[in-house]
Amino acid sequence: MMRFRSIGFRLTLWYFAVLSVALVAFGVAMWFAMRQSLFGAVDGTLREQARGVGRFIQDQGASAHPEEMREEFREHSVLGPGGDLFQVCDSNGNWLYRSGVLREAPIPVYTTDQLKSTRRYDNVRIHAAPFRLLSRNVEVLGQLYAVQVAAPVHELQEGLEQFFWILVCGIPVVLVFASLGGYWLSRRALVPVDEITQAAQSISAQSLSRRLPVPGTGDELERLSSTLNAMFERLDAAFGRITRFTADASHELRTPIAFLRTTAELALRRQRSETEYREALTQILSELERTSGLVEDLMVLARADSGSGGMRFEPMDVIVSIREACEQGRVLAESKQIEFEASMPEAAVEIEGDCRAVRRVFLILIDNAVKYTAAGGRIAVNFVQKTGSACIEVRDSGIGIAAEDLPHIFDRFYRADKARSREMGGVGLGLAIAQWIVEVHQGKIEVESVPGQGSTFRIALPMYQTNGVEQESKSAAGRF
Ligand code: ADP
Repeated sequence: MMRFRSIGFRLTLWYFAVLSVALVAFGVAMWFAMRQSLFGAVDGTLREQARGVGRFIQDQGASAHPEEMREEFREHSVLGPGGDLFQVCDSNGNWLYRSGVLREAPIPVYTTDQLKSTRRYDNVRIHAAPFRLLSRNVEVLGQLYAVQVAAPVHELQEGLEQFFWILVCGIPVVLVFASLGGYWLSRRALVPVDEITQAAQSISAQSLSRRLPVPGTGDELERLSSTLNAMFERLDAAFGRITRFTADASHELRTPIAFLRTTAELALRRQRSETEYREALTQILSELERTSGLVEDLMVLARADSGSGGMRFEPMDVIVSIREACEQGRVLAESKQIEFEASMPEAAVEIEGDCRAVRRVFLILIDNAVKYTAAGGRIAVNFVQKTGSACIEVRDSGIGIAAEDLPHIFDRFYRADKARSREMGGVGLGLAIAQWIVEVHQGKIEVESVPGQGSTFRIALPMYQTNGVEQESKSAAGRF
């Protein structure tokens, strides 16, 4: 079934149009070439015959008496060139020989003066049959004779006519078969496209893991399938991430909500003292604080995914941000009897970034260090300047991270020890946020840890280039 909007159909249509024009032009050219060559052959014979007449006159002797000459011609007319289909008249208009056939026919007759040195070819009809007529002067021993020779072209015209009909009937047949062949070929070439289309139609949000067939032909179609598959791969990964994130987020929200609900229900179950109510409300409040922190983190990551919520990139002093984070960290550490140490230069170190986001990264790292270090431990924040980048190190002497957890700690909701993390108020989003912020700032974040001895987180951020060669992509990618 032909589909009228299909590429195959349109290709065939174009093919048909181009082929029709080419074949018709070819047919017309062939017909004219054929005609030219056939008439050329007849004309050649006629010229040869006219020359023969000239030779005959010469043989008879041009000075022979016209009467004698006429007699000779009459005798030879049956045997002579063209049988009876010729006539000769001298320059005075006297017929040396007059053909019986030509005499009766309405053909043009020329005198030697009219012809001069030209050859005239006429297509004439004699008794309804087509003839070709050559009229020319022949000079024999200084005398001019007007010679007319005719040849029947009936067969020639029939042949031409036959050729014409062969073309008229043959061209459409060739066209039809060639177009059908063209359509079949184009359909065959496009079948894989249909397969790809159908396969792509069957892929939906629920079946993103399905892939298109790759023809393995090494052509454009294979590239198309591979490109689409790569796109589905990315979509699948992104979709999976979002699904997991939504599921994890709902799960994380369910726990505090259940806790809030039970605490409130328990408090309301019977009459209680003011102290008991206070205690319940305090528990509710602290859980609410934790939950609103979680919601805020979720929103940061959701915005990171959707690319909305602008981060403002501008030259900023990274030392100021570290110092502010350290101030908060020191309070937290000291409340847990952890020694806190920070060493950084006095002079400003400029990077291009969003100061709130950068401070947040340091806060997350210092907060983690405090959370996962027991009393009596030690936390050190160091700044090291390397060529082109500002490196900050947050080292603790805490519980450390097991080797199998290390590759995952930057994943969303990943916690090496869920119970302990939750107890510490963590949901496993801190490092995911930190990593995202650092990456948006074209920086790098790394971790090194020995379980039981402590962990070291290192961040490198590119320094601000005052010569105008800045990281152009940042402003576009940076959202917070
Ligand atoms: P959380 O809110 O649980 O702290 P993070 O994303 O900040 O979430 O960290 C993910 C996990 O990495 C934590 O649950 C913890 O197991 C581990 N981790 C992070 N920082 C440290 C650290 N300084 N010492 C030991 N473990 C850490």
